[in-house]
Amino acid sequence: MIRNAALRDAQARIGAHTPLTGDCGLHCAAACCAADPDDQNGMLLFPGEKSRYTPDDASWMKLVPSGRYFQGRQVALLVCGGTCPRQRRPLACRIFPLGVKAERDSFSLRMDPRGTGLCPLIGSGLSGLCTGFIDAVTEAAAILWQNDRHREYLIWLSQLADEHAAAFAPLRAGLHGISRKDKIHD
Ligand code: SF4
Ligand code: SF4
Repeated sequence: MIRNAALRDAQARIGAHTPLTGDCGLHCAAACCAADPDDQNGMLLFPGEKSRYTPDDASWMKLVPSGRYFQGRQVALLVCGGTCPRQRRPLACRIFPLGVKAERDSFSLRMDPRGTGLCPLIGSGLSGLCTGFIDAVTEAAAILWQNDRHREYLIWLSQLADEHAAAFAPLRAGLHGISRKDKIHD
């Protein structure tokens, strides 16, 4: 059960919508779900999302400190083993490969820059995704945007993605690709 109403409503709005009509993981061997042998990479949890997880989830995931701080508190990172009960996956997984580009007073959707080099859908942009998925994520983000704490978190997350994109731009220019799952979500 999700006690945070905005989080619950945002998740419900996305529902069963996925980036493509079929299973996009068939195009990439589910690259964004690949397990990290070091257990250091995973999905940053939204405010209030951590409490959703209980010891019953220990069979497929663990929560670790991310080393990143939002409003003075360390954000939890969900690290999975590469599979999950679908209904238990965090919001970050439900939104990807979309990301929110947030300014102080507005937001828009973009392809998550952290997916470049990993997700084959990034190159085709929003036009390559199901409109139902885009609409659902847009409305989910709008729900979160109405909530002060979630709005600040989206702005923080957007800045994090921008920093990531800037840091990896030289690599993308020709030296290396990005192939690790963690580079998507964190
Ligand atoms: S990497 Fe992209 S195409 Fe592959 S499963 Fe993840 S979202 Fe789908
Ligand atoms: S929790 Fe997310 S990254 Fe892990 S298997 Fe589920 S959808 Fe993939």
